Amino acid sequence: MPFSALGLAEPLVRALAAKGYNEPTPIQRDSIPTLLEGRDLLGIAQTGTGKTAAFVLPSIQQLVAANKRVLPTHCRMLVLAPTRELASQIADNARGYAQFSKLSVATVFGGTSINKNRTDVARGVDILVATPGRLIDVVEQGYLNLSMIEILVLDEADQMLDLGFIHALKKIVRMLPRKRQTLFFSATMPPSIRQLADQFLTDPATVSVVPQSTTAERVDQSVIFCNQQEKQALLTMLVKDMPIDRALVFTRTKHGADRVVKLLAGNGIAASAIHGNKSQPQRERALALFKSGEVPILVATDIAARGIDVSGVSHVFNFELPNVPEQYVHRIGRTARAGASGEAIAFCAEDERPYLKDIEKLTRQKVPVVALPEDFLRRAEAIKAERVKAIGADPAPREDRPRGARPPARPKATHQPRATGGTPQARGQQARGGGSGSSQPGESRYANASRRRRGGRGRGAGGSGGGARPTA
Ligand code: AMP
Repeated sequence: MPFSALGLAEPLVRALAAKGYNEPTPIQRDSIPTLLEGRDLLGIAQTGTGKTAAFVLPSIQQLVAANKRVLPTHCRMLVLAPTRELASQIADNARGYAQFSKLSVATVFGGTSINKNRTDVARGVDILVATPGRLIDVVEQGYLNLSMIEILVLDEADQMLDLGFIHALKKIVRMLPRKRQTLFFSATMPPSIRQLADQFLTDPATVSVVPQSTTAERVDQSVIFCNQQEKQALLTMLVKDMPIDRALVFTRTKHGADRVVKLLAGNGIAASAIHGNKSQPQRERALALFKSGEVPILVATDIAARGIDVSGVSHVFNFELPNVPEQYVHRIGRTARAGASGEAIAFCAEDERPYLKDIEKLTRQKVPVVALPEDFLRRAEAIKAERVKAIGADPAPREDRPRGARPPARPKATHQPRATGGTPQARGQQARGGGSGSSQPGESRYANASRRRRGGRGRGAGGSGGGARPTA
C-alpha cells in the first residue's frame, strides 16, 4: 500500500520517498487515516515501529491545512518526550518529514542553555519537541506560551511516569487549550497509564502494534547464571568471542555503567557510556560514535537508552537484570529492529532470579539458559590479570539509582565468590541450573560462537586474552 493511499499529501509522500520509505509500517497504516480525521489517538507501540512518522506525518498535514501563522513565543504542535535523546530524535525526524512543507521545528530540553531555548522559540515555532521539566521552566520564565497548541503528542508515556513526570505532565496539560487533538503513545499499558490516557484523551481511537511478547519472540534470548563478580569477565569474553556489530550493554546504575566501560577499556575494548550524569555533548558524542560503528559498545542505563533508535544493534547484554520487567522488553527491543533478528543475553546473579521470573511471566516465555563459556575460570583469571596490569585494581562498585526511578523491589544480596573447585565443564552444567533450552547439553553455545567467529568471519582472534580491539 503506498503512503498516498492513506490520504497523505504530495509534499509528505515526496519527503518519505526522499528517505527511501515506500510502504507504511502497521502503526502508520492504522493511525494515519484516523489522525487525519482529527481524532484523538491512544497508540500502544514501542520505538522501532515507525510511530514517530505515524504521529508526525498527519500532524504536519493538519497544520499545513489549518494554514495559521504562528505568533511569536507560541507553538502549534507540542511533542513531549521523556529524554533528551528521544526529543532530539523526534525533532530530526520531523525536520525530515516537514522539509517540503515549510514548517519550523525546534527543541526544548535540559542540558542546553535556557537562553538558546528562548531564542529558538522567540519567533514562534510550528512544531516544538520538549522534555517536560525544561518546558515548564521556559514557560514559567515567560519565553513561551502554550495557549495556541493545536496538537499535543505524549510519547513514551509509561517512561514519563517511571521518571516521575506525572505532575509536570498534568501541569503542562492545564496550560493548553481544551480544544486540541491529543495523541498518546506508550509501549505498555498498565492501569496507571490507562488512567492518565483517560484524563488526557477524548473518545480516542486505539491502535496497538507489536504486543510485548511478539517483540520478545523476535529476539534470540538467553540467560547465563553467574556471580555478580564474574559478570565483567563474562562480558569481556563474549565481546571478544562473538561476531558483534554493535552491542548495547545495560546496567541498572550510572556508576555501574562507567565501571563497565572502564574495565572493558582495561582489556582493550572500546566502549562508551550514556547516562544521566553525562553532559548533553558527551551523550551526543557517545551516540554518534556508536551509530557510526567507531565505538561498537555502548553501556547504558535504561533511562538514557530509552527511545534511542539505532539500527544494526546485533547484541543486547543485560549486565544486570532490570527490576521492572517491562524494562527488559524495552532493552531487548533495541535489537531486532525492522524485522531483523538480534541476540539478547542476560547475566543473572542469584539475587536477580526473582527479576528473571517476573520477566518470564510478562513475556509469557522461558528464557533459555546457556552455560558459561568453555574454560571460563581460566580465561576470567587471564582477563583480570590483563586488566590489572593495564589499569590497576578494579574500582569498587557503587550503588546508585536514576533520579525518580523506582527503588529496587528487593534488597541486594551480597555475593559469595563461587567456589573454584570442579572442572569448567561441571561449572557450566552448574551454571545452566537445570534449565531447558541450552543449545548443546554440557557445552556453552558461546564457545561455538567463538569457534564460528575465529574460523568463519575472521574478525580478530578469540580466546583468552586475545581479541585485539581499539583501546577506549
Ligand atoms: P520510530 O519507531 O519512529 O523510532 O521509527 C523506527 C525507524 O524506522 C526509524 O529509523 C524510522 O526512520 C524508520 N521508519 C519509519 N517509517 C518507516 C517506513 N515506512 N519504512 C521504513 N522505515 C521507516
